[in-house]
Amino acid sequence: MGYHSSIAQVADSAMIPRTLFSSEHETFRASVARFMEQEVKPHDERWQEQGYVDREVWRKAGRNGFLCLSMPEEYGGAGADKLYSMVLIEEQARANNSSLGFGLHSEIVAPYLLNYGGEALKKRYLPKMASGEMIGAIAMSEPGAGSDLQAVKTSAIRKGDAYLVNGSKTFITNGWNCDLVIVVAKTDPAKGAKGTSLLVVDTGMRGFAKGKRLKKIGLKGQDTAELFFDNVEVPAENLLGEENNGFIYLMQELPWERMQIAIAAVAKSEAAIAWTTEYVRERKAFGRTVASFQTTRFRLAELATEAQIARVFVDRCMELLLANRLDTATASMAKYWTSDLECKIVDECLQLHGGYGYMWEYPISRAYVDARVQRIYGGTNEIMKEVISRSIGLGDQK
Ligand SMILES: Cc1cc2nc3c(=O)[nH]c(=O)nc-3n(C[C@H](O)[C@H](O)[C@H](O)COP(=O)(O)OP(=O)(O)OC[C@H]3O[C@@H](n4cnc5c(N)ncnc54)[C@H](O)[C@@H]3O)c2cc1C
Repeated sequence: MGYHSSIAQVADSAMIPRTLFSSEHETFRASVARFMEQEVKPHDERWQEQGYVDREVWRKAGRNGFLCLSMPEEYGGAGADKLYSMVLIEEQARANNSSLGFGLHSEIVAPYLLNYGGEALKKRYLPKMASGEMIGAIAMSEPGAGSDLQAVKTSAIRKGDAYLVNGSKTFITNGWNCDLVIVVAKTDPAKGAKGTSLLVVDTGMRGFAKGKRLKKIGLKGQDTAELFFDNVEVPAENLLGEENNGFIYLMQELPWERMQIAIAAVAKSEAAIAWTTEYVRERKAFGRTVASFQTTRFRLAELATEAQIARVFVDRCMELLLANRLDTATASMAKYWTSDLECKIVDECLQLHGGYGYMWEYPISRAYVDARVQRIYGGTNEIMKEVISRSIGLGDQK
């Protein structure tokens, strides 16, 4: 049984029907799956070895209309609804690809530009981001500040028509391939969060430098890097929105950013169950298939049940998101719970593969190492629980 047919089988059997997608979304899904198979899979091993993807795959994705899907057409996007982005995230997860940083580029960086950038800035960057000529990154985290973004030290001090940016960032996705970075910096260091702004730094600007690509336990084909800013002169028009309002803008985008992680987590969990179902049907031990042991079947039955619960919850959250009714706490529940579940499912599925599960040629091994970061980035799961506890009336406990 082929890899995709087995996923389809798991999806078709014992499934509460999904109601989110139209036939156009499903046609799009098929074209993304084809792209993953034809344009991504043949290169992916090399990308993992080199630690970054070829720029050509970005341009190919752009030509196929896979970048900045929800961007209005006047800026080079497809003007599509977020369900197309959801399909793209799901298919990338099902293809077990963790090298492409498309989601961050299209669904986090580009929307900040669209929502808060001036017209000149949007015209300069967005069409090139949609075509894949320019790659975007967002730099919040620093060596000394991750969860606590109020502790950001990078500064952007206004000097005439420009801001002088100084500081360093770390763990930046697309950091090595990127052409533009949205930088979180203090424009008024004395004011903490209320002195934070977002600026677009063009990586060609003098004083900007990319550091080393960071070696990671997973996401090996993704270029996670350090960035350095040494008196980078950034034109004032590259400020997003209003000075000192950066934190407010960061908060507004959180539900969708967190849902992207949850969407990938559920799709990867379903894929892991499908690979494992296929594997245990064929693998023999003690003269019978591993699937014939009741403990195996019960384990997979439990995992399929939990993945189903996650699927229904995430789909419902997306319905609310599309209606602009998804709050940050509920999106945080989805991010925390599904990424924890993903880690549990890939771990159990790896176990059912025995020693082969530990071998790189089996997709479950890669899914296992890739899953771990889902509980860390996009706000750690502990921070998610902080947000949730506040929403149930447990904020500011002494
Ligand atoms: C592969 C990868 C890609 C990334 N991509 C990006 C990117 O593109 N852009 C970007 O800006 N950042 C990126 N990050 C950074 C990521 O967002 C941070 O690592 C994350 O927010 C956690 O910050 P930290 O690493 O500083 O951990 P810390 O904040 O130092 O946390 C350490 C531990 O303390 C816990 N903790 C902290 N505060 C609290 C609290 N109040 N209550 C309870 N527990 C707490 C945390 O949950 C964690 O377990 C990436 C990280 C990785 C690993």
